Amino acid sequence: MKYDYLIVGAGLFGSTFAYEAAKRGKKVKVIDKRNHIAGNIYTEKVEGINVHKYGAHIFHTNDKEIWEYVNQFAEFNRYTNSPIANYNGEVYNLPFNMNTFNKLWGVTTPEEAKAKIEEQKASVNIDQPKNLEEQAISLIGTDIYIKLIKGYTEKQWGRKATELPNFIIKRLPVRFTYDNNYFNDKYQGIPTGGYTQIVEKMLESELIDVELGKDFFESKEEYLASFPKIVYTGMIDQFFNYQFGTLEYRSLQFENSTLDQENYQGNAVVNYTDAETPYTRIIEHKHFEFGNQPKTVITKEYPRNWKKGDEPYYPMNDKRNNEMFKKYYDLAAENPNIIFGGRLGMYKYYDMHQVIGAALSVVKQEFK
Ligand code: FAD
Repeated sequence: MKYDYLIVGAGLFGSTFAYEAAKRGKKVKVIDKRNHIAGNIYTEKVEGINVHKYGAHIFHTNDKEIWEYVNQFAEFNRYTNSPIANYNGEVYNLPFNMNTFNKLWGVTTPEEAKAKIEEQKASVNIDQPKNLEEQAISLIGTDIYIKLIKGYTEKQWGRKATELPNFIIKRLPVRFTYDNNYFNDKYQGIPTGGYTQIVEKMLESELIDVELGKDFFESKEEYLASFPKIVYTGMIDQFFNYQFGTLEYRSLQFENSTLDQENYQGNAVVNYTDAETPYTRIIEHKHFEFGNQPKTVITKEYPRNWKKGDEPYYPMNDKRNNEMFKKYYDLAAENPNIIFGGRLGMYKYYDMHQVIGAALSVVKQEFK
C-alpha cells in the first residue's frame, strides 16, 4: 500500500490531521510509540469509571466551530469544572469568587470583598514586583496568596515563589459573583464514555492504518525515504538530534488507587494548596461523569523535575528554551515535507480545543 502521509503520534493533533486527510481520499499511516491511541487524552475504564490516565482533561472553548467539530465524535455532558482548594483542612471554592471571599473574611457583598482586597494590597505597598511572590501579593493581597497560591505554586514549579519570575502570574482571575465555574468559556463538558472514543472515531477510516508500540526513531531514515510527507508530533529537538540543546519540561507523576467506597472527596478536582501535602491535586474520576459505581478511582498528582526519558508534560517556555525552540523551528521550516505540530512539535502548551484548531489550520494550508 502506498501512503500519502506518515503521522507520528496518535494524539489529538495527529488524529485530527489523519481524519481530515482520509476524508480527502489520502492514505495515511499513523504510528505511536505508546501501546494505545489518543496521546495524553487517553482514558481507560477501571471499575466502570473512565480514568484520565495522563491527568484530568476538561474540554472548554469559546469557539462554536471547534465545539461542533468535537461533538461529531462524542456526546458531551454538562460537567462544569468547579475545583475546591484544601488548605490544611480548610476548604475554599475556586476560582477566587464571592464564595471564597465569604469563607476567608466573612464578607457577603462584592463591595465588601473589593474593599478587603484593596486593604490587603495597600498594607504591603509593592511598587515593582521583583518575583512571583511580590507579583501575586500586589495583585490579590496576602491572605489569598498564602492560603491559595503560595504552596501550590511552589510545589508545581519545585522552587520558592521568591525565586520564580514575576511574569508567570500576569493576572489573577477574580470574580465578584457567587460563581464557581472555573472557565469563562461558552462551551464546556466531558465526553460521556471518555475521550478515547473521539480518537478511535477519527482513526476508523479504511484509509488509515495504525501501528502502536512503534517509535519513529527506530526507523527514522527508512520513514524519511519512503513517505512523501510526514506529520511529526513528537519532540522537535529529538527530531533534530538535540543539535541546539535539549528543550526542558515539567513532568508529573500520577499515583492511582481504586478505593472500596462510593465517594471519596465529593468533587472531581481538589487542589492541595498547603506546602506540607506533597501532591498538588487529587482527581476523583467518576465525578467527571456523575458516576454512581460502588467503587471509586482517585489519582494523586505529584509535580516532578523532568529529565530525558521522562514523560514531557509542560513545556518550560522561559527565554532560554523559547530561543532554543526558535532555532529548531527555523530549521524545520527548511523542510516543507515534514509538518511539525502538536504540543511537542511546537513546544507549546495547547489545550485540546487549541490543538484541534491548530491541526485544522494546518489541514487548510495543506489541502488548499
Ligand atoms: P499528545 O497527546 O502528547 O500526542 C503526541 C503523541 O505522539 C503521543 O501519543 C506520543 O506517544 C507520540 N509520540 C511522541 N514521540 C513519538 C515517537 N518518537 N514515535 C512515535 N510516537 C511518538 N487540555 C484541555 O483542553 N483541558 C484540560 O483540562 C487539559 N488538561 C491537561 C492536563 C495535563 C496534565 C496535561 C499534560 C495536558 C492537559 N491538556 C488539557 C492538554 C491536552 O493534553 C493537549 O492539548 C493534547 O493532548 C495535545 O495533543 P497532541 O497530539 O499535541 O499531543
